[in-house]
Amino acid sequence: MPKPLLELKDISYSYHSLLAETPALSHVSFHINPGEFVAIVGPSGCGKSTLLSIVAGLLAPEEGTISFQNPDGSLHYPKIGYMLQRDHLFEWRTVYQNAVLGLEIKKQLTPENIENVLKLMKDYDLYKFKDKKPSELSGGMKQRAALIRTLALNPTLLLLDEPFSALDYQTRLTVSADICQIIRKSGKTALLITHDLSEAISLADRVIILSHRPATVKFEVPIHLSLPEDSSLAPRNAPEFQYYFNLLWEALSDEKK
Ligand code: ADP
Repeated sequence: MPKPLLELKDISYSYHSLLAETPALSHVSFHINPGEFVAIVGPSGCGKSTLLSIVAGLLAPEEGTISFQNPDGSLHYPKIGYMLQRDHLFEWRTVYQNAVLGLEIKKQLTPENIENVLKLMKDYDLYKFKDKKPSELSGGMKQRAALIRTLALNPTLLLLDEPFSALDYQTRLTVSADICQIIRKSGKTALLITHDLSEAISLADRVIILSHRPATVKFEVPIHLSLPEDSSLAPRNAPEFQYYFNLLWEALSDEKK
């Protein structure tokens, strides 16, 4: 068994104001193995973004522990890449200048890192648009540019907070498959937050269902879709897709009752 890259044990968190306390997470536990793509699905307002903020180190849990392990079992704090709902590309910078922004800020604009960004742009069909402004790109291309900006920093763990929700449905289907393929090719470990069950099943190796607020882990299932390696068949057409959909839908509907 591989050692998990990320392990959360009994994480709880509440928001406090002068008037009220809002419990957001209650004893949440799960792990992610290196190279795994895990999706977390839960009802709106259940605490998904709070959970990502805790994993990203932006919020400290009130209870529980969060640990990151190297393959040899030693603990470390990994480089985390965060992809948000909007691409947040700067309009006054070209696509290339946006893609190297993180490297620039971190003063890591080395010839090797620049070469890597240009290679990613070539691999993912953005190279010929590198001198354009973001407004000249389609929604999907903007998301690809944002992902390249994130991958440029060579993160160990990618956090994806509903990264396709600003796209229209048609675009969303192709862009999510595209982005997923890029992440898989890069061998990165990824944690995706989404409220779209089909998206979670078609992209992830494992899906975790959260309960209503305060979120707890309600259900968890590994996804195995039988698609031949060279198949152009979309994961949504795999024979097992409907089975997983019904299984997870039931867990979520239970939640709604
Ligand atoms: P989700 O991402 O699943 O929609 P969030 O993690 O954003 O849910 O929020 C979980 C709950 O915590 C929600 O009920 C939300 O209203 C509440 N919440 C989020 N941020 C704050 C905050 N800064 N102060 C108080 N309550 C908050």
